[in-house]
Amino acid sequence: MSFWNSVKRKARKEHTCKYCGKKIKKGEEYSRETGIYEGDFNDYCLCLRCRFLVDEFEHDDYLHEFADTLIDNDLMLCPACGTSNLSEWEFTDDMQSCECECDNCGEKWVADLSIEGIKRIITSTR
Ligand SMILES: [Zn+2]
Ligand SMILES: [Zn+2]
Repeated sequence: MSFWNSVKRKARKEHTCKYCGKKIKKGEEYSRETGIYEGDFNDYCLCLRCRFLVDEFEHDDYLHEFADTLIDNDLMLCPACGTSNLSEWEFTDDMQSCECECDNCGEKWVADLSIEGIKRIITSTR
């Protein structure tokens, strides 16, 4: 028997997003994920941005690393030269943006990783 459930909820206490590690604050909407996978019971929280990323990019049964998903899917491309070789990247504490430095041309920029920012990047590259 297997099942999976994603339910949108409003946080009654603080949670941590399993994918990006961000704190989900009291009152913030998030997705509660519960289900059985390979015989193990799972119960964890995702912030809505990560729920969106998982829907878009995670087609296997397990989750990749948040940063890998962003880089492998060209969500943090250099705005100057268009490559995805980063020499450095550092997420802000709220995980809604990332300070990036391009390994190819040295450009520094801040990637917008909010759900709106990510949707904008996806639309502009497809
Ligand atoms: Zn998240
Ligand atoms: Zn560059």
